[in-house]
Amino acid sequence: MARVHNFCAGPAALPQEVLEQARDEMLDWQGRGLSVMETSHRTPEFMAVAAAAEQDLRELLAIPDNYRVLFMQGGATLQFAMVPFNLMGSSGKADYINTGHWSTKAIKEGRRFGDVNVAASSEDSGFMTVPDRANWQLDPEAAYVHYTPNETIGGLEYDFIPDVGDVPLVADMSSNILSRPLDVSRYGVIYAGAQKNIGPAGLTIVIVRDDLLGKAVDVCPTLMNYQNVADNDSMLNTPPTFGVYLAGLVFKWLKGNGGLEVIEKVNLRKAAKLYQAIDNSTFYSNPVDPRYRSIMNVPFRLADDNLNAEFLSQAANNQLVNLKGHRIVGGMRASIYNAVQEDSVDALLEFMADFEKKYSK
Ligand SMILES: *Cc1c(COP(=O)(O)O)cnc(C)c1O
Repeated sequence: MARVHNFCAGPAALPQEVLEQARDEMLDWQGRGLSVMETSHRTPEFMAVAAAAEQDLRELLAIPDNYRVLFMQGGATLQFAMVPFNLMGSSGKADYINTGHWSTKAIKEGRRFGDVNVAASSEDSGFMTVPDRANWQLDPEAAYVHYTPNETIGGLEYDFIPDVGDVPLVADMSSNILSRPLDVSRYGVIYAGAQKNIGPAGLTIVIVRDDLLGKAVDVCPTLMNYQNVADNDSMLNTPPTFGVYLAGLVFKWLKGNGGLEVIEKVNLRKAAKLYQAIDNSTFYSNPVDPRYRSIMNVPFRLADDNLNAEFLSQAANNQLVNLKGHRIVGGMRASIYNAVQEDSVDALLEFMADFEKKYSK
């Protein structure tokens, strides 16, 4: 069996060791003669799986005790609604920073709930940079400040945590959570769909500071109310049990490999190689402000868009798959999440150099 080099933006590559363990346990989990998927979420065995997943995530991110970890569903997109439902409260106001596709979506959804102030935007630059913090027009009455630390489609990543004073900072970390160590104490809420850097689609992780619980508006559905979910240990209804189990295996894999300090070094090395190759060539290009280039999602273009189809087909022949850029930006994109091994990046670099040699004029 040959595994390909998978650069998919999401649902993305998972660690091979994790998939192998899940395979080995699929039919007969813990010697019980059934799959974890066929087990009630109310059993002590499954509750232990969920508790261990939470505990390992807490250790990896050094999550302080005054934060709750919630296992939810609906992806990051449902969080675009849950955040205002839970936090916008009586002021009905929130600040958002617009740095691209996903922050634009969050803003659009936020506007259904209240008064959304776009405190800063890099739209003028085509979202090629992060707006200078000194120029953000924050509203002192805002219930929270929402931003997108890594724009998965644009390949734009903050290199700082914005200081927003006492106003809770809310982050959509779907595509860069667990890519490096993080100071969770700077945040009010962190959320992430699992399918980029955590596990299979269907699980959404929310990390919320406990003083922000209990502020949901009355019409907030029971299942979307962070307080209810926290009070019931994310088992208000049936949680996505297989997703929680698999995320737990990924957390153990990360811990076993030395945790986030180690994975950060690998991630920085993978991204640096790729950007360096792009910058050193006249055939490939990346338009993003170098200071804010993402270490998880690397978009790049060929000198001639007419070669895109040829590039993708020859790449696939070399077991390099899912390199097509998002339709709104075109070109190529290599997503190099934690589970994408350094040798996959090396294989891509070798292919890119060969392709350039063949096709550059
Ligand atoms: C993928 C992604 C989303 C959308 O996630 P869903 O889980 O499909 O709702 C939102 N924000 C960011 C930053 C993403 O990368």
